[in-house]
Amino acid sequence: MTVIKNPTDNNYFDAVLVGAGIMSSTLALLISEVLPEIKMLIIEKLDSPGNESTGAFNNAGTGHAANCELNYTPLDEKGNIEIDKALAINRSFEKSMSLWASLYKAGKIDIKKFLKFIPHISFVSGQDNISFLKKRFQKMTENPEFVDMEFSTSFDEISSWAPLITKDRNPLIEIASTRIVRGTDINFEALTKEYLSLLSSNKNVEIRYKTELVDLKKIDKKTWELEISSEGRKNSIRTAYVFLGAGGKTINYLQKSKIPEAKNYGGFPVSGKWLICEEEVLTEKHNSKVYGKADIGAPPMSVPHLDTRWIDGRKLLLYGPFAGFTTKFLKQGSYFDLFSSIKRNNILSMLDVGFKNNDLINYLLSQSLKDHNSRVENLKKMMPSANPSNWYLKNAGQRVQIIKKTDLGGSLKFGTEIVNSSDGSLSALLGASPGASTAVSIMVMVLEKSVLFLNDKRNLNKKIHNLIYPDLAVSENESTSIKDIKKRNNSILGFHP
Ligand SMILES: Cc1cc2nc3c(=O)[nH]c(=O)nc-3n(C[C@H](O)[C@H](O)[C@H](O)COP(=O)(O)OP(=O)(O)OC[C@H]3O[C@@H](n4cnc5c(N)ncnc54)[C@H](O)[C@@H]3O)c2cc1C
Repeated sequence: MTVIKNPTDNNYFDAVLVGAGIMSSTLALLISEVLPEIKMLIIEKLDSPGNESTGAFNNAGTGHAANCELNYTPLDEKGNIEIDKALAINRSFEKSMSLWASLYKAGKIDIKKFLKFIPHISFVSGQDNISFLKKRFQKMTENPEFVDMEFSTSFDEISSWAPLITKDRNPLIEIASTRIVRGTDINFEALTKEYLSLLSSNKNVEIRYKTELVDLKKIDKKTWELEISSEGRKNSIRTAYVFLGAGGKTINYLQKSKIPEAKNYGGFPVSGKWLICEEEVLTEKHNSKVYGKADIGAPPMSVPHLDTRWIDGRKLLLYGPFAGFTTKFLKQGSYFDLFSSIKRNNILSMLDVGFKNNDLINYLLSQSLKDHNSRVENLKKMMPSANPSNWYLKNAGQRVQIIKKTDLGGSLKFGTEIVNSSDGSLSALLGASPGASTAVSIMVMVLEKSVLFLNDKRNLNKKIHNLIYPDLAVSENESTSIKDIKKRNNSILGFHP
């Protein structure tokens, strides 16, 4: 095992993690559980954790398991439904559930603070969409991951699943839905706090708030020097391993690192807004997350959905997200973020993406110009009885979509991407979707490439397996075993089908 500990130097850490959102906190938790002797520092520029994209109101809190998100099952050129991405996301999310189940069983975290089971529903109208949903249902239910999915075209049955969707809807217009009862609503901010509270019991882990990464450079083969600023005071620290988990701002620090791998990337910010309803007569009637189809020209992450949420002990309804444009990379960021990320080696890809994505830019502009009534008109497509006076607007988090240089010019990506330096001394996380739900799988991949486990991947895999599935002697890659994993997680997390 490669532990590069230097206990005598207060400014030296084996690992420094930038940002205290769900990504860094998941990575910190994994490192601390499998390598508790590592001297680790987490720095966060705000005064508390999980306040950017991870914040409870800044994301939709959907435990993305591909149960209901139609953009995870696109059509290929021949018109066939592709479900590989949905299968991978489902397995990834189950890995997160497995870790939470194990930590909960060991008395280390309290799942009641962040997890609620709630049905995930897809809803469409119109013949083409109904036929797509039916084919999708048939293909997905052939796999153990989605075997419990139900399909219905019955107005009454869909009413019983989600009464607000059918109230005041013309029953002569055909509709269809699928439902998976075992869906989840996750408060990722609360989860981050659970992880950090557990981490604070490890004396080798230090968390510094109001502390910002300013710059970083590699000073020798094994050492990064980080310039940090804390309430106006600058300081430099050194480390063998850096994780850039600064959310939308990661791209700027990746560029500052000057690793060759950073040259291919740029970022495109998309802001979001929710309509929120707190009226008890309505919140009591909706107990699910209902995902529709994105409008033509809309980016995949703007699929409209009507969600039941539990935040700070209150039950709410959220509808959206409505997209918008700003040049900030973080909600509490600077309007210069986008401009400072434009460099000689990414400007052509960024311009190319601008030219190729007129639809998207028009869509973002039209969304930004919407007023309250036109947003509620949009909501009425899903909830025809919606009344503007019951809903108010709230800003969601910032997403920074990845722009990548490819042989065919600039390409705009809607997924998540890990960028690793070739020597394993730095990793960065770019992108936003499926995001927080799959943080555990993504961070296991980050660890596999890190200098902390160089030449020791087998040992890492064994330790990670023992942490995530301590009581399960199965390979999570075998299709049949997903059933056992779900069964085990249901029993620990208290889901009774
Ligand atoms: C509208 C919207 C809806 C979403 N819905 C879902 C969903 O339903 N399900 C899901 O799984 N995911 C969802 N996501 C994605 C999910 O929110 C993100 O993938 C996830 O929160 C990213 O976590 P993070 O830790 O990388 O970033 P963040 O939560 O943004 O954390 C980054 C942290 O780094 C800090 N930081 C930045 N710069 C510095 C610096 N220089 N020094 C120190 N600290 C710094 C920031 O203050 C922040 O605390 C959604 C996102 C958005 C925007």
